[in-house]
Amino acid sequence: MIDHRRLGRDLELFVSDPLAGAGLPIWLPAGAAARHAVEEYVRELERRAGYRHVYSPPLGRRELFERSGHLGWFADDMFPPMRLSADDEFVLRPALCPHHALVFAARGRSYRELPLRVAELGGMYRAERSGVLGGLSRVRAISLNDAHNFCAPEQVGDEVREILRLIREAHAALGVRPAGFRLSVRGPGQRYVGDDAGWARAEDLLRTALDGVDAVEAPGEAAFYGPKIDVQIVDAAGRESTISTVQLDFDKPERFDLSYTDSDGSRKRPVMVHRSLVGSMERLFAYLIEVHQGAFPPWYAPVQVLLLPTGDAQADAARRLCREAEAAGLRAEVDESGSLGARVRDAARRRIPYVGVLGAREVADGSVSLRLRDGRGLDPMPRADALRLVGAVVASRSADLLPPA
Ligand SMILES: [Zn+2]
Repeated sequence: MIDHRRLGRDLELFVSDPLAGAGLPIWLPAGAAARHAVEEYVRELERRAGYRHVYSPPLGRRELFERSGHLGWFADDMFPPMRLSADDEFVLRPALCPHHALVFAARGRSYRELPLRVAELGGMYRAERSGVLGGLSRVRAISLNDAHNFCAPEQVGDEVREILRLIREAHAALGVRPAGFRLSVRGPGQRYVGDDAGWARAEDLLRTALDGVDAVEAPGEAAFYGPKIDVQIVDAAGRESTISTVQLDFDKPERFDLSYTDSDGSRKRPVMVHRSLVGSMERLFAYLIEVHQGAFPPWYAPVQVLLLPTGDAQADAARRLCREAEAAGLRAEVDESGSLGARVRDAARRRIPYVGVLGAREVADGSVSLRLRDGRGLDPMPRADALRLVGAVVASRSADLLPPA
């Protein structure tokens, strides 16, 4: 299995430049195209599941992170505050929860609005030591698929089960194969907020929500504010890490004094459920690059169709078909330089799922010959049919290269 750093370089997905800084990779056009497709998919999945998306800045006043507890409990993992003036200090956020608590607090809330699911693919920062950084798997600037679901206490069990269902759906579409589920609970020698009874109740809630899922209990792996369910993956080097997570938090609603009006008119405290379906874009892609060895499912392949005219006389037809493919919503390119054999080999090296060859015969009868990434070749077919075929596979988000017969 080839390491994602080497594939990332060979396929021009991302670059790490010492001048920009360790753990601060730059996504190149091919990597950005794949990531964009994945981000759109996740946003759509969340939208259909009742999430509301917001934008919030990756930087905030020091007081916000004192209120959230991050500066008290988590300061070692954060960049030092930046002083703008004597009474104004700013912090690069290590998590999105404080801003999302302020979304909940933006106005009075009723029990009818719950669960209120606030989602954002947002930036956050961790002051990782330079020795542990590498490629996309450990970075200092993190783009997290995040959400905070504010629930009435009695809704938490169903909400966690629904989140686990969404996690499984997203994994199936992306080709993520989890190594296992982990119930991360309190452990000795760690600091935690809240009382024992609250922790025991929260841990029981998660145990119940797991409901038949085989999970390993991991003492000491809980967040400082609550227990969590983590979905683990293993990378090419055999290192285990968390890709998806569901965390219960009774502490931040308290700190931000969050409340809603219940059906009897009384004020109640919501529970905050932190969840990420697919983790950060960086760690997700480090994993996807390795697990697919760069051959992404067609729906998020950087270039889906590469068109190869056999000679100069076919170049115009290839460019025309490329524009038609783009108009149909596909990512397409034309490669005109060099021998046909060399261009076919280069397409294979780039793991492009579909190569369309246009020779004199194809141009004369308005057809194209498709070759699939796995070596199969299809008989020449009308150009519109070829675009429909690729479009159908992309729309299905299947990993197969042909639609079901
Ligand atoms: Zn959070």
